[in-house]
Amino acid sequence: MFGVGPGNADVMLVGEGPGDNEDKTGIPFSGPAGQLLNAMLEEAGLERDDLYITNIVKCRPNGNRVPTLVEVSICKPWLARQIEIISPLIIVAIGNPAVQTFFPNVKGGITKFHGQFWTTQSGRTVMPLIHTAAALRNEEWIPLIQDDLHKLKRWLDEQR
Ligand code: URA
Repeated sequence: MFGVGPGNADVMLVGEGPGDNEDKTGIPFSGPAGQLLNAMLEEAGLERDDLYITNIVKCRPNGNRVPTLVEVSICKPWLARQIEIISPLIIVAIGNPAVQTFFPNVKGGITKFHGQFWTTQSGRTVMPLIHTAAALRNEEWIPLIQDDLHKLKRWLDEQR
């Protein structure tokens, strides 16, 4: 599962890795976590079709486990090239493994720093977002994701 979206997208969403649905359809965020993400994007006034969506790892880790560091590093050149070609204004790193791929030295969990605007060593703007799969298990995170998506929309409107 590679990625979907326009080649000139302003926003690139980067999740953890394909789940069962994504593996079958080849479309990132096409299962239950994706349905929730779609609803929240729409509510925040963000068009899913305008965004480029991909994952840190391109193959489904068996049993839906978190990808290993070796798997992440094997897939990193593909992600790096996607970022280079699309050159988005902002990358939204969804969930801890995605955040740690961009910021390996980050300590603590995403619930502490989600919604902030960070800059990578190579000058890319990255916003950590709580994963919608986590919000399916813990509904109190839904409004936090929603607020961050509204913040993202305001930020994008300011860039235009
Ligand atoms: N979770 C992810 O991190 N990525 C997907 O594509 C689907 C679920």
